[in-house]
Amino acid sequence: MPARRPRGPAAPAPPPATGSVLEVGDLSVEYILDRGTITAVEHVSFDLDPGEFIGIVGESGCGKSTLLFAIAQLLAPPAEITGGSVIFKGRSMVGLTDKQLAAVRWRDLSVVMQSAMNALNPVKSIGAQFKDAMRAHGVSSKQEIAGRSAEVLKMVGIDPVHLKSYPHQLSGGMRQRSMIAMAMLFTPDLVIMDEPTSALDVVAQRSLMVQIKELQREFGFAVIFVTHDMSLVSHFSDRLMVMYAGQVAELGATRQVFDSPLHPYSAGLLDAFPSIRGPKVHLSGIPGSPPDLARPPHGCRFAPRCPKVMARCEAAPPDLYQVGGTQVRCYLHEGASGGDAGSWASGSGGPGSQDAGNEDARSAL
Ligand code: ADP
Repeated sequence: MPARRPRGPAAPAPPPATGSVLEVGDLSVEYILDRGTITAVEHVSFDLDPGEFIGIVGESGCGKSTLLFAIAQLLAPPAEITGGSVIFKGRSMVGLTDKQLAAVRWRDLSVVMQSAMNALNPVKSIGAQFKDAMRAHGVSSKQEIAGRSAEVLKMVGIDPVHLKSYPHQLSGGMRQRSMIAMAMLFTPDLVIMDEPTSALDVVAQRSLMVQIKELQREFGFAVIFVTHDMSLVSHFSDRLMVMYAGQVAELGATRQVFDSPLHPYSAGLLDAFPSIRGPKVHLSGIPGSPPDLARPPHGCRFAPRCPKVMARCEAAPPDLYQVGGTQVRCYLHEGASGGDAGSWASGSGGPGSQDAGNEDARSAL
């Protein structure tokens, strides 16, 4: 049974029982700078079902955070949504006033940032910050605030005595857990997480991921989880979106993308990170770095780094092709729409070496 969800006077309607909790349609975001315009997110579309966990992966600078910020309407100039839509629970998020957004945040949609130290107010205790969030949504009963604050802190494995603690008195892992607890105050429908584990050591990282997954299973919220570590998130996500240079390179079921990546970039990412468990494998990485988005390559954006590059890749950019249930932006799969094009990497010994890692995924919880 989901925990009781405190509801203030201005409670929005619950999400529809069926249909997507989030629909991102053809979304584009630009940074408008003196030296030119950078398109950090370009024509990105995806839906998220209630309770679904999607991992968004890619190297630094590929537009992952910009996409999250655009979804949560947290962008500030010089960033601007220049096209597309973000429909959350059937309602457009683009163009909502600050007041309308404030009514949605925490209650229906929570954001957990990379650094809890920056996101938490350093001069307020954890309990005071929880209280502010609840009061902002019309919960005024001291008893209810104290009860719910203790409850969410316990849910993330922290003794409620730490409601009195200030952020600097907690470890990095505890601060991140506190942020997740705060995100749970109203049991939202969607939790957006931007590299929440990146500052933690591997053991704390894994334990936090397991905790997030358990909370998600228990309370049924959907998750968008951004990370550069494809191997880590693949153990927990239902679907993976691989972003490269502001675009979707591949989008599909985690098992499919992880076991049989279609895009050479996805395959390269898998080779770049070790499995949490499983045998030691050689990590090859991807030579070079993502392009400057002020001057992206004329053809496929990955062409300059791609081990499978063909002449046409440099001539014109590929579309997103549908291959079975996966979308992939690569000429290798043009014409395979609806069919089973097989994997670029199958039998390559590359991402296949991650099979042991995916066994972890199945047994992780
Ligand atoms: P990621 O989260 O994948 O690391 P970001 O969304 O942070 O990527 O950045 C995507 C691109 O947007 C960067 O390569 C950079 O060119 C541009 N960008 C990000 N933040 C800013 C900013 N504040 N001003 C100008 N350009 C920015």
